[in-house]
Amino acid sequence: MVFKSKNFCIVLSSPSGAGKTSISKMLLTKDGSLSLSISCTTRPKRKGEVNKKDYIFLTENEFNKSLKKNKFLESANVFGYKYGTLKETVNSFFNKKKDVIFDIDWQGYQQLKQSNMDVVGIFILPPSKKELISRLKIRGRDTQDEMKKRMDLVQDEISHFPEYDYAVVNKDLNECVDKIKKIIEAERLKKFRQLNLTEFVNKFRS
Ligand code: 5GP
Repeated sequence: MVFKSKNFCIVLSSPSGAGKTSISKMLLTKDGSLSLSISCTTRPKRKGEVNKKDYIFLTENEFNKSLKKNKFLESANVFGYKYGTLKETVNSFFNKKKDVIFDIDWQGYQQLKQSNMDVVGIFILPPSKKELISRLKIRGRDTQDEMKKRMDLVQDEISHFPEYDYAVVNKDLNECVDKIKKIIEAERLKKFRQLNLTEFVNKFRS
């Protein structure tokens, strides 16, 4: 017997190059009850990125206006640009009874944890520093300057891993995705998230 579970937020954070984007895309194809929160950013669009699919690309002015109107659930400065999650994005997924995946940094995670949202945090670790550098180079989408900024911040981002509920090393993408799938399945089975559980158990009393 499987009960529908109360919907919750799953935050994936990691240093750049640890594979968050591929992981979240794979999770979405494997689990129809998940949706990915599309963030807003003031960062320039990279080659191949599509507005409203990868990010909602905003000008500094547009971002600040939404910030003033309190439209963001969380927001942060990352690598010199602004990033934020719109409340309406998340609410619309919850209305559709979906659990929501967030690909956000530790600052956004802290803000969500401090809000009244139900949040599970998963920190993705690269298998080694060497591997991380090599992945960033292969990805080849960052300028030299951007790459340096990202590498400088690796240490800082990794220092926040103890704040998360889970840590998963992404050595093999499929294995890593399977582990995260299991985490999500186990979290759905937590008693407080299982709807109608008390009602079901009460039936055994009479
Ligand atoms: P990128 O520019 O490489 O797509 O993302 C840079 C960093 O910003 C990543 O660590 C990513 O997780 C984080 N990020 C993306 N969207 C958001 C957001 O809405 N809020 C926060 N706090 N961080 C975000």
